[in-house]
Amino acid sequence: FPMSTTASESPHDSRTDNPFPPDIQRDVAKRRTFAIISHPDAGKTTLTEKLLLFGGAIQLAGTVKGRKSARHATSDWMEVEKQRGISVTSSVMQFEYHGHTVNLLDTPGHEDFSEDTYRVLTAVDAAVMVIDAAKGVEAQTIKLLNVCRMRDTPIITFVNKLDREVREPFELLEEIESVLGIECAPITWPIGMGKTFRGVYHLLNDRLLHFAAGQERRSESERLDGLDNPLLDAQFPAEVAKLREDVELIQGASGPFELAGFLAGRQSPVFFGSAINNFGVQEILEALLDWAPPPQERNGGERLVQPAEAEFSGFVFKIQANMDPKHRDRIAFFRVCSGRYTPGMKVKHVRLDREIKLANVLTFMANERLLMEDAVAGDIIGIHNHGNLHIGDCLSEGEALAFKGIPYFSPELFRVARLRDPLKSKQLQKGLQELGEEGAIQVFENLGSGALLLGAVGTLQFEVVAQRLQTEYKVDAIFESADIYTARWLTFPDDNTRRNFEREQLHRMAKDVDGNAVYLASTRYNLEVTREKWPGVAFHSSREHG
Ligand code: GDP
Repeated sequence: FPMSTTASESPHDSRTDNPFPPDIQRDVAKRRTFAIISHPDAGKTTLTEKLLLFGGAIQLAGTVKGRKSARHATSDWMEVEKQRGISVTSSVMQFEYHGHTVNLLDTPGHEDFSEDTYRVLTAVDAAVMVIDAAKGVEAQTIKLLNVCRMRDTPIITFVNKLDREVREPFELLEEIESVLGIECAPITWPIGMGKTFRGVYHLLNDRLLHFAAGQERRSESERLDGLDNPLLDAQFPAEVAKLREDVELIQGASGPFELAGFLAGRQSPVFFGSAINNFGVQEILEALLDWAPPPQERNGGERLVQPAEAEFSGFVFKIQANMDPKHRDRIAFFRVCSGRYTPGMKVKHVRLDREIKLANVLTFMANERLLMEDAVAGDIIGIHNHGNLHIGDCLSEGEALAFKGIPYFSPELFRVARLRDPLKSKQLQKGLQELGEEGAIQVFENLGSGALLLGAVGTLQFEVVAQRLQTEYKVDAIFESADIYTARWLTFPDDNTRRNFEREQLHRMAKDVDGNAVYLASTRYNLEVTREKWPGVAFHSSREHG
């Protein structure tokens, strides 16, 4: 299959008509930036570990996220995480593999932190979807895939845990196609499962990969000359008939793999394997290198930004506090969209309209943070943040760019924050403002009463915020239930309507951390009635950052 990356003609910057700098073009073509999405327990962490092993980013499996006994490793930095045994935050890992620079963005598995996951998915160019072969498509898989679909992100599917008694492969493919609405193109096909799992047949390469449980090293593959090869009868007397039958069925039933369909997000190449046995993992990595796209042009608001342009640009998609308890800092994760980062460079902070210097920018390995020397489109850099950088913020070399697409969704759960000690209201305000800017929770200030409201997608977010208020801001807050059904962002046709609406609805109005007007509906009925009464006012269930 041809690589999608090689630019044969030399592309030009349409604004200046200068050719793109060849060094940037070359480096961008080597980038692959992706995330792994899955329902909790499907095997995302295990697959991450194995991928990092191939990349040499970690020495031993088990250092990404300690499971069971050793739950204190890299990304488990918070008490809540430790107590609950879940990974709350996402992190970024960069490694080299076969001449490529791979950026793997980790996403929190727990659905209470799905807002964070949505934001991470805006920063990737492809995703690997892990399906537990015993369970098939699960609730969180559906949600995450829908987010990928918003940007037509290409998806590679890994059907995991074939070393167990699982569901029939055909049934799984059918479920993926019907529930997720994405066409499947099997690339490997399993031979047996559970105790009789023998390996996979690579449909494109006509190769056989032998499976041996507990073998950490990758097994060698051997080339067959078609499935009639008597070698198969000798090696798998019990399974070969089924394999031949299956392959015939596949060739009849599913379309062949098409790179264009994959890149458009319509078709997903499917691999079968067992992450814990390191089986089928290298094939995923190779598919990422060979088929997944390098960084593409991005909508910068004013115009489309090309990844190989000379001028540096990008956006903040995530802010993470206390990554390292020793450092007690906040890091803004920034996706480079064009140009080249060089240490000490001066860039424009578009929202604040002022120049900032980028120094001591970080890159991340599985359990280390290193100073970043060089970054191009597709790379993620960590910028020390003292509150100036919010989610969605854009940095450029002067242009007023605004990268589109980082969503805020209307929260489903609401609480009112109240203080035990009323003298701490300044700290509470500051803490909530900062945690809101960071995206840990959504914060609204009621325009009528001045009360501070928290909005979350999952209840664990409230726990995280309560704990962080206590440890970082020394504020002891109580969260009480709020009489709110949902929130809607408002846009008004004109100032007059806005003023009239505010006059009538002040007690049900709030502003978010960026000052946008919000309507707080008490019930579904209340929302409907208000909408009907104010046909000119638009009620939005999501908004973009910035
Ligand atoms: P995550 O929640 O998606 O990150 O899932 P984990 O990687 O933590 O895996 C969940 C559980 O499934 C763990 O107990 C893993 O050991 C197990 N697991 C992962 N991959 C495999 C596999 O290929 N076969 C089997 N039998 N178990 C697996």
